[in-house]
Amino acid sequence: MDSLSSNWIDAHAHLTDIRIEKELPEIVACAARAGISRFVLGGVDPLEWEKQKRVAQKFPGTFLHSFGLHPWWISRATESEISKGLESLRRELSNEGADRGIAIGETGLDFHSNFSEAVRPVQEAAFRSHLRLAREFGRPLVLHVVRAHERAIAILREEKRDALTSGARAWTGIIHSFSGDLETARAYLDLGLTPSISAPVLTRGRGSAFEKMRETMVTLGATEFVIETDAPDQPPAGESGLNSPLNLLRIADEVAKLRGVTRETILNSSRDTVKRIFKIP
Ligand SMILES: [Zn+2]
Repeated sequence: MDSLSSNWIDAHAHLTDIRIEKELPEIVACAARAGISRFVLGGVDPLEWEKQKRVAQKFPGTFLHSFGLHPWWISRATESEISKGLESLRRELSNEGADRGIAIGETGLDFHSNFSEAVRPVQEAAFRSHLRLAREFGRPLVLHVVRAHERAIAILREEKRDALTSGARAWTGIIHSFSGDLETARAYLDLGLTPSISAPVLTRGRGSAFEKMRETMVTLGATEFVIETDAPDQPPAGESGLNSPLNLLRIADEVAKLRGVTRETILNSSRDTVKRIFKIP
């Protein structure tokens, strides 16, 4: 395959993960041979942002930085850690150097039962802070929303209304690992946020959740979604071990099958949409 002309992009991955540190050169080389040459990283916390920058030096032009305080980190952090984290984020966004963040995130809400309900207001406050920073600095967002779409959309609408009345620009971005129904996808798109499709599309073979996702995937316009792996997290259900960026090709195959187009059509249009959203040259 002519991998130089493909230059596909994984819209969301965590290649700074310590579990793949040793294999990373091979993982990156292997993905490049398959035509996947760039990765938008998901930010987790200030220490991880520094790691993104260190790792990126070893693979020039491969990693696109996103800096944010992940809802999981927020759920475990103290009040003072969160306010220091937000200060660091503001400093990071003022950096216009080569290692600048192209996006703000991950941010959002995670109402999974792993977290006590008591942390929900803390997550919401941090989410709003990220949204305001995105507006202030004009950066796209990377959203992580689990079992909380209704609440996240309500907050996005409130913040957008405030933004528009103050004359500020609204945001763009992606809603990562989206597997919801068409109505939810449309609500995010109306708010400037593009669904990013990951491994669930491979493994939801039947049932109502699959039917909803299928409807979403066949109805959205070609530029209304992107694809990602979230590697090394989220291996396809039932598969052991860590997730590989090569699964981007499988996700593209599945989406292509649902839409009746080729794998290359999906990979090319996802790449172009990622470049537009994140203003990647
Ligand atoms: Zn992530």
